[in-house]
Amino acid sequence: ETNQESLSFQTEVKQLLHLMIHSLYSNKEIFLRELVSNASDACDKLRFQALKDDSLLADGADFRVRISSDKEANTLTIEDNGIGMTREDVINNLGTIAKSGTADFLKNLSGDEKKDSQLIGQFGVGFYSSFIVADKVDVYSRKAGVSAEEGVHWSSEGEGEFTLADVELPSRGTKLVLHLKADQTEFADSWRLRSLVKKYSDHISVPVQMLEDKPADQEDDKTVEAPQWENVNSAQALWTRARSEIKDEEYQELYHHISSDYGDAVTWSHNKVEGKLDYTSLLYVPEKAPFDMWNRERVRGLKLYVNRVFIMDDVEQFLPLYLRFIKGVVDSNDLPLNVSREILQSDSTIESIKTALVKRVLDMLDKLAKKQPEKYQAFWDEFGQVLKEGPSEDMANKEKIAKLLRFATTHTGESKQDQSLSAYIERMKEGQEKIYYVCADNHQTAKNSPHLEVFRKKGIEVLLLSDRIDEWLMGYLQDFDGKQIVDVARGGLDLGDIETEEEKKAQEKANDEHKELLERIKAEFKDEVEDVRMTHRLVESPACIVVGDNDMGAQMRRIMEAAGQ
Ligand code: ADP
Ligand code: MG
Repeated sequence: ETNQESLSFQTEVKQLLHLMIHSLYSNKEIFLRELVSNASDACDKLRFQALKDDSLLADGADFRVRISSDKEANTLTIEDNGIGMTREDVINNLGTIAKSGTADFLKNLSGDEKKDSQLIGQFGVGFYSSFIVADKVDVYSRKAGVSAEEGVHWSSEGEGEFTLADVELPSRGTKLVLHLKADQTEFADSWRLRSLVKKYSDHISVPVQMLEDKPADQEDDKTVEAPQWENVNSAQALWTRARSEIKDEEYQELYHHISSDYGDAVTWSHNKVEGKLDYTSLLYVPEKAPFDMWNRERVRGLKLYVNRVFIMDDVEQFLPLYLRFIKGVVDSNDLPLNVSREILQSDSTIESIKTALVKRVLDMLDKLAKKQPEKYQAFWDEFGQVLKEGPSEDMANKEKIAKLLRFATTHTGESKQDQSLSAYIERMKEGQEKIYYVCADNHQTAKNSPHLEVFRKKGIEVLLLSDRIDEWLMGYLQDFDGKQIVDVARGGLDLGDIETEEEKKAQEKANDEHKELLERIKAEFKDEVEDVRMTHRLVESPACIVVGDNDMGAQMRRIMEAAGQ
């Protein structure tokens, strides 16, 4: 080995390594899933690049991942013939954490191991998870297309430093040698490894191979042929199989693979479409929101395949922003293999697939809400805020999205958002024609709003809105199921038939009687208010301010003011 150097891990890597080793210890076997997953990604990447340059496949086109172990040396080796890495790649990929937001992620950690281990699960720890079971890891890698002398050897004990050296390697790809900790001998046991590969990597389309087991009585018999490599997983992309043949656990495993989320998916929708368009989609709803969901640039969960060849990650053209939490796979038979992001942007096939996928997602959520209301509620608590962006972004599906919304209302009086508009409509009073809401900075203020007095008196339910996005949302949601949705704090509040004739007359009469007083107040506040009226809105409070029918709502105005408008 030549050209040796010793480098230090980025600070974040040190923190992450420490945290991971402690918090994932009870679930340590996941390291194998991560490493096989990387090896399979590496094969996918090379297969894709070779579409343009087949000289990259000089060492052969039969992709595979090989796992072997040595009980005596207590080592585990995972080798792939994928894309490989250069010295520079290795420094960037295995010495730093390229993922943006990692620093934010680390800031979110509480120090409570239990909570943190859930967080780290969401983050997807990848390569570094090998240090949960190994006290030293050697990586040998040669990039496809470079010469044998340009191989690189990376080595680390996971404690702050790693070394690099040039080595000669006979063929492309990456080999990891894990020097297992003294108490982790189970991972050098081939039977145990086989069962883990079956459990975690069955759905991966690249074959995962191990040496066939020699019967015990032949083990020392040198005349018997050397053991052969055999496939351990079924090596068939899960989504190409028939729905009825796939077990829930298999769906969950694919979810873990594509999402780098250790948690489960709540539900999924797997569909094969044939005819004018020809594609398969498998879409998942995660259980937990990723820590960076609010970074609208970051979170995109769809992977694109063309004829089972992986093309790219994070395809944003298939789903609108308000569904950015959905994870999954789209495998198209119509797109060209050399499709690029630019082509995706202008391709009409993509537009049609997008329309269909949005419908699938909304139907899947609707079904969840109907069949498993508790699970839907948990979903809403995680992702409701994002879904609220829907009506403004996707007018065509406004009604469907509105059906999925959940609100706090005066019906329960609680701040939990758990009432649907349909449930509200079912509870509407005789003669009530509209859906009413009040908007405020927080739940308490909304609940105590003087505007609610008349509604309370008449027993009419009002939606209590206090999320930042709510007023924006209501601006796009003028009606639902043929019922107008109105802000109780706006101008002439028309209670329709809920008001009796007498009440209406009494109101007019009061306005007449107090004309002089109203004029005087109006003159006094002429710079502050537009009009002063008698009202039936209030039962206990002496006065309240309302907003004109066409003016910006109070909450919206505060947001605009805060933004310096
Ligand atoms: P992730 O897979 O989420 O990107 P990892 O920590 O698992 O995170 O891996 C970091 C990076 O290291 C990968 O993105 C990839 O570029 C590189 N890498 C890891 N394993 C391999 C491998 N077997 N072959 C080629 N590159 C690899
Ligand atoms: Mg990975």
